[in-house]
Amino acid sequence: MTQQFDALVLGGGAAGLMCALEAGKRGRRVALIERAERAGKKILISGGGRCNFTNIHCRPENFISANPHFAKSALARYTPSDFIALVEKHRIPYHEKALGQLFCDRSARDILEMLEGECRDAGARLFVQTSIREVLRTTEFVVRAGEMEFRAPVLVVATGGLSIPKMGATGLGYDLAGQFGLAIREPRPALVPFVLGPEDREGFCDLAGVSADVAVSCNSQRFREKMLITHRGLSGPAMLQISSYWKPGQAVAIDVAPGSNVTAALREPKTPRNTTALRSALHNFLPIRFANRWLDLHRPSAWTNTGLGELERAVHDWKVVPAGTEGYAKAEVTAGGVDTNELSAKTMESRKVPGLFFIGEVVDVTGHLGGFNFQWAWASGACAGRALV
Ligand SMILES: Cc1cc2nc3c(=O)[nH]c(=O)nc-3n(C[C@H](O)[C@H](O)[C@H](O)COP(=O)(O)OP(=O)(O)OC[C@H]3O[C@@H](n4cnc5c(N)ncnc54)[C@H](O)[C@@H]3O)c2cc1C
Repeated sequence: MTQQFDALVLGGGAAGLMCALEAGKRGRRVALIERAERAGKKILISGGGRCNFTNIHCRPENFISANPHFAKSALARYTPSDFIALVEKHRIPYHEKALGQLFCDRSARDILEMLEGECRDAGARLFVQTSIREVLRTTEFVVRAGEMEFRAPVLVVATGGLSIPKMGATGLGYDLAGQFGLAIREPRPALVPFVLGPEDREGFCDLAGVSADVAVSCNSQRFREKMLITHRGLSGPAMLQISSYWKPGQAVAIDVAPGSNVTAALREPKTPRNTTALRSALHNFLPIRFANRWLDLHRPSAWTNTGLGELERAVHDWKVVPAGTEGYAKAEVTAGGVDTNELSAKTMESRKVPGLFFIGEVVDVTGHLGGFNFQWAWASGACAGRALV
């Protein structure tokens, strides 16, 4: 059976839903084609089930891309305030957590139901459990899925990245970019926990569950947030953030007492210079078990000013070389993707293939942790949806 539409949107995730509702509101006949049994499954598990749906401090610097300017236009055209207005129109209660992150008070389900409702009201048709077999371009785009054939002059690819394959992630978006001759920036897991090598694992991983406020740096980026020791390595917001910038083989530099002088107390004439005094000084900054372990592995070479100076430097520049990451199975997002040089920054339309659009995570734009990835999905989806003719 062949069905004719004005636009076909492949992938009913955050970006696809936003694109479909914006295009539908403009009177376009839209088909939203989703392989899972329901749309927006990642929205439901996001933010620990409460969906960190945007960040009020959203700036272009919160995004990683081979072209750091690309995202600016879309982010300016559809801002956090635009999404907040939608959330408020639906009377969804929300709150700000640290650092401008907005979360639902109740459940991520509120956001998904809002988007599904807006799509319905806009007349967009959602086809779930619809696995795409083939995409062709004749005089228009033809999508074959099961026994169905969809046709439209416009095709929007919103199939996301490779992270969390058990939730149905596929590489369809990258395959379609290749099929239509668009360049790809090598995809890689991002916002992903680190795995440590055997020595560091033996040194720290029995402390799994312990967290500390640190500053971590790599490749000229620095994040001051919490670090969490896991059974296999290091996670927590600080490590997830820096993982997006890390390349295999590189060290990350961890400052375990940012902005503080740990050995200052030991330089006081009345304070003894010994392990007990040093431990108690570090306990002011780190959980006791972590502080003790860290000092066991970083004993001062001498109790002289020089020895204390070396230790102070080590406290602020602890170099760890991760053996790797937990990969796509645990990555919150996929960095890399469709090369932004291939797309219009205003509309997300391919420069080479008129009528072909890429939006959301499949594009080489990756947000920091904290609601930025959804803001990119909303912004890129809205820009494409408003541009469909
Ligand atoms: C555990 C977790 C928590 C997260 N929490 C947050 C958060 O709180 N805040 C935030 O900003 N970001 C968060 N993210 C990131 C955010 O979920 C993504 O950046 C965002 O969902 C990307 O939107 P998208 O529409 O591009 O892709 P997706 O949401 O992944 O949607 C893609 C859709 O395409 C469908 N699809 C894939 N292949 C095919 C195919 N072959 N045929 C048909 N359909 C297909 C998929 O089933 C999916 O529904 C989180 C991610 C994870 C994994």
